[in-house]
This record gives sequence, structure tokens and C-alpha cells, in this order.
Amino acid sequence: MERFDVVVVGGGLAGLAAAHSAASAGRSVLLIERGKAPGTKTVSGGLLYGHGLAQIVPEFWASDPSPVERPIVRNILSVLTGARAVSVDHFDAAFGRPPFNSFSVLRHRLDSWLAERAEAAGAVPVYGVQVDGLLRDGERVIGVRTGDDEIGAEVTILADGVNSLLVRGPGARPEADPSVVGVGVKQVLELPTGTLEERFQLRHGDGVQITTIGHPSGIEGGGFLYTNRSSLSVGFIANLRSLVAAHRSVDELFDEFLQHPLVARWIEGGQLAEYSGCFVTEGGYRALPALAGAGYLVAGSAAGLFLNAGFTLRGMDFALESGRIAGGVAAEAALAKDPAPARLERYVAGLEASFVLRELRTHRGFPKVFANPRLYGAYPEAINALLHDLYFVDGSGRPHLDRLARGALRGRVAWWNVARDLLGAGRRL
Ligand SMILES: Cc1cc2nc3c(=O)[nH]c(=O)nc-3n(C[C@H](O)[C@H](O)[C@H](O)COP(=O)(O)OP(=O)(O)OC[C@H]3O[C@@H](n4cnc5c(N)ncnc54)[C@H](O)[C@@H]3O)c2cc1C
Repeated sequence: MERFDVVVVGGGLAGLAAAHSAASAGRSVLLIERGKAPGTKTVSGGLLYGHGLAQIVPEFWASDPSPVERPIVRNILSVLTGARAVSVDHFDAAFGRPPFNSFSVLRHRLDSWLAERAEAAGAVPVYGVQVDGLLRDGERVIGVRTGDDEIGAEVTILADGVNSLLVRGPGARPEADPSVVGVGVKQVLELPTGTLEERFQLRHGDGVQITTIGHPSGIEGGGFLYTNRSSLSVGFIANLRSLVAAHRSVDELFDEFLQHPLVARWIEGGQLAEYSGCFVTEGGYRALPALAGAGYLVAGSAAGLFLNAGFTLRGMDFALESGRIAGGVAAEAALAKDPAPARLERYVAGLEASFVLRELRTHRGFPKVFANPRLYGAYPEAINALLHDLYFVDGSGRPHLDRLARGALRGRVAWWNVARDLLGAGRRL
């Protein structure tokens, strides 16, 4: 049986970061990815907060060719209803200068770039090969099985993404609750650079990200749009429970989202270049599986490391950081020939000390806050109605603001629900 110090399953950002980190520590590393090339089997909206990648490759943004599309200088949150939208538009010139804040990315470009660095560090990647199962000696994971081949490992890192079939078994990931599962769809639409920069009022090279909440159908979910160099990434993530209850398909809802008059203006003339879809698990801290066990570690979205805070959607920086820490711990354990749970628990300690588990713990109440249907229907309707009444002037004598506000809420949401939601959100956020 062929043997490596560390075998990494999955060549997404978590797996690549893990392979890079374990190989940089001098260990023999095999990375197995079922896609034919890096980034071909993964779905991401495409907004990367750069701090995680900078831990792995400092000043990555200056690399040539660049792994990123545009630094994001404008962050917009839009609350949508049928034909209206209320937006908060935050511009920060400092976000357009090193060390930047976030970037739009296209995964095939970013993942290929990081794969080259992992390989240069000494990791051996194989593409187009699927891991079918784990090899075990009692409770301990001792490697992986791919078809008829068996490959031994001191430590196996499971970074096989949100649909991980390997993170099962005793103490492993619980079955996902549909109320915290999102179904995401995404298109990449090509647009000439000049059109794109003019449309979004961007200085050459800068980018914008738009997150939306609310949908004409009231479905629980939200949309996103990111500007790349010469394309837009646009998508929608709908809550699975809400989809099933409404007997709607995510494609139908996505089409309705794209037809919203404001969204239609954003994407006008875009030529479809990619269409993809994937699940996201939004259970957060309370839905984490066992992150380490005898002979194995779990990183990235296979471990449910994802944070939807409404105005930010983050999984890639969590994948990179968890992968980086997992690779380091696996390398130490392999060197010591000690893959026992006590040593591998250092991975969990590392995550606790990093932003990964700290932020997930801080935001552990978010899934409950976002499970409120009023956030997607009644509140967007009310706030858009209020803004409509404030801006609409027909000479009939506009009432006092207080009456307008009560009028906007009437028939949409009762005042005691507003009070209850504010109190609940205050407690949980
Ligand atoms: C619609 C949508 C929008 C999103 N938007 C954002 C965003 O804007 N910003 C952000 O930070 N995050 C976003 N995310 C989340 C982000 O994409 C994930 O958190 C991130 O990709 C996780 O990286 P990963 O390496 O853990 O998993 P992945 O990137 O999914 O990589 C897993 C890899 O494992 C491989 N694999 C799986 N099983 C096997 C197997 N058995 N054998 C071999 N290989 C295998 C897969 O082919 C894949 O390449 C979004 C997610 C979705 C679905």
C-alpha cells in the first residue's frame, strides 16, 4: 500500500490550504480531487475576505498573474420587494488600497493559483480521482480508498466540501436540519469592462458587491452580485424548508430575482458563461460535527464552517484558515507518528484561538434570527412602502412621519411582533 504522511481529500480552498501547510512543514502530502482541474467542481458566490489567504501567501494580491478579480470598495445591501428597493451603500476608499479588505474571485482561477503554490511546496495533487471511503483500523482512520486502490496516511484531512459523504459515522456530522440548509444557484455573466465600470460607477479596477434580502415571492433567502474583471457573478440562496413549503424550485425563484427591475438593470446585456448550484449549511456553531478524531481532521465546508451574517457571506476565509491550521497540526502529528485524538485536538484548539470558532460562537444565534419569515416578506414590504410614501409627492398633503410609519406596518406586521423581533435580534446578535 502506498503511504503518505498526510492525505487530503478535496482540492477546494480548505484542501489546498491544508496541503500547502503540511507540505511546507516538510511532510509527504497527497491531495486527491475528483474534479479534472482545480476549482471545476466547486461553487462559490465569489467574495473573498483576503485575511485568510494573506496568512498563506502574504501580499497575494500583488502576484502575477493575480488570483483575484477586483478589490471591493463599495458594499451595498439592498432590501427588495416586487418593483422597489431600499439600499445602504457603503464606500470606503481604504478598501481599495493594500492590504485591502475583500476581493471578487473566480474559483477556477483562484484554486488553480493556490494549487500551484501547494505543488511548489511539495504536495502531490491528483485530479479526476474520487475518494470512495476511509480505511480504518478499529476507530482510527488510516487512509483512504479510491476504487481498488488503498492509500495509507498518518493523518487524513477531510476537506471534501459541503456534500461530504466521508464526514459520517460515530460522532460525526448530524443530518442537516432543512431549516438551516440553503440551496444556492449562481450565474457568471460576461460584460465588457467599460460597461461594467460605468454601470457601477467604479474607478478602473475597483469592484462592488451587492447583497440583497427579500424576494417578490417572500421566500426566505437572499441574492448577491459581485463584479469581476469583465463579468458579473450573480446568484441567489434560498432556504430549503421555505422552498419545500412554497412548492417552488430554486431556478424559478432565481429567474424572478433576475427579473426584479433593479437587478435586471444591473445585469442587462450580460452573456451567460457559467451556471452552477450547490447547498450551503447555515447551522453555524451549534451544528458543527466532530472536527477531529483518531487519524483524521475535518476542514472547510465539510465541517460546516460558514457564516451568513446577512450583509456578509463567508465560507472561503473559514475554509482557508481551517485548512491552514489542519495542515500544520497534521504535519506535527505525522512527524511524531502520533495521530491520537489528544494530539489532533490541537486543531480544535487552533480553531478556537483563530477567528474561525470565535466568530462562529459569537454569531451562534444568527441562524435563529434569519429563520424569521418576516425578514423576507413583511419587513422589506414595510420599509419599501415607507420610503415610497416619503418620496412620493402628489400634492394631497403628506401626513406626519409617525402616521406614515404606522401606515407602512399596518396589515403587514403587528407592532408586538416588531417589538418581539427587535428584542430577539438584540439578544442573539
Ligand atoms: C451559492 C453559494 C455562494 C457562496 N458565496 C460565498 C461568498 O461569496 N464568499 C464566501 O466566502 N463563501 C461563499 N460560499 C461558501 C464557499 O463557497 C464555501 O464555504 C467554500 O467553497 C468552502 O471551501 P471548501 O474547500 O471547504 O469546499 P469546496 O470548495 O466545495 O471544495 C471541496 C472539494 O472537494 C472535492 N471532493 C468532494 N468529494 C470528494 C471526494 N470524495 N473525493 C475527492 N474530491 C472530492 C470537490 O470536487 C471540491 O473540489 C458560497 C457558497 C455557495 C453555494
